[in-house]
Amino acid sequence: MTRVLRTRDELRAVLASAERPVGLVPTMGWLHEGHRSLMRQARAENFTTVVTIFVNPRQFNRPDDFERYPRNEARDIAIADDEVVDIVWAPPVDEVYPPGFDTTVSVGAVAGPLEGAARPGHFDGVATVVAILFALVGAERAYFGQKDVQQVMVIRQMARDLALPTAVIACPTVREPDGLAISSRNVHLSATERAAAPALHRALAAARDRWEAGERSGEALRAEMRRVLADEPLADVEYVSVADGLTLGELAEIDGPALLSLAVRFGATRLIDNELLP
Ligand code: AMP
Repeated sequence: MTRVLRTRDELRAVLASAERPVGLVPTMGWLHEGHRSLMRQARAENFTTVVTIFVNPRQFNRPDDFERYPRNEARDIAIADDEVVDIVWAPPVDEVYPPGFDTTVSVGAVAGPLEGAARPGHFDGVATVVAILFALVGAERAYFGQKDVQQVMVIRQMARDLALPTAVIACPTVREPDGLAISSRNVHLSATERAAAPALHRALAAARDRWEAGERSGEALRAEMRRVLADEPLADVEYVSVADGLTLGELAEIDGPALLSLAVRFGATRLIDNELLP
């Protein structure tokens, strides 16, 4: 049975006698197949698996987005149990940020563009909560989804710079059969928006095809993504990007690892996706 813990003290006490190595999977709940794949990899590579469920207010740059984020703890715990997770830590906000909490972890350049530019403060909130989770759990490994690729890069930079001993492991994006990256936010899509949402993946695939055919102009690939998205009337494009795979700077010419990424709104729901070009 999965043990469900609420406080920092309970978590520390249980982890003190946990068999090592420990694998950590941080989540905001509303668990789905993407989260399950992280839990499976954590379980395969570690003796003890810890899943955290915490809708982190500090990483939402818009209060309405935080309020409407989907939540169902009972269902999440059943899913964790089904995946043979040893420990779920589902704390109240005060256990993560006790009264008087006054620290922000702010990562530099890699947190600046793309999601960092579109959602001011978002990565400060992510880096701060993940630093707390790494400190509390002291895991040998922590598992994150490639779907949020910039988040992985920000957390890697933070862990390296702060000498945190937890290894950051990126896991492949899990998709619906029609290519849509699975996300907790997909639940907010209306039926017509859901039918339109695979346009993100189609745009990435079209740009990738152009790259495989030899196209190396960043602008040509951005235009290709915009062209595919323009065919979808419900898609409200926030950005399309062809960026350096290490620095995330926009590329004029692709001459090494590159990251295709995009953020698109369907009504009130904002979706992101990405693909790495080796
Ligand atoms: P979230 O609960 O959305 O904050 O996500 C928790 C973790 O699951 C993050 O590391 C995400 O990148 C990862 N994740 C979310 N969706 C997927 C997916 N479709 N495939 C793989 N990992 C995912």
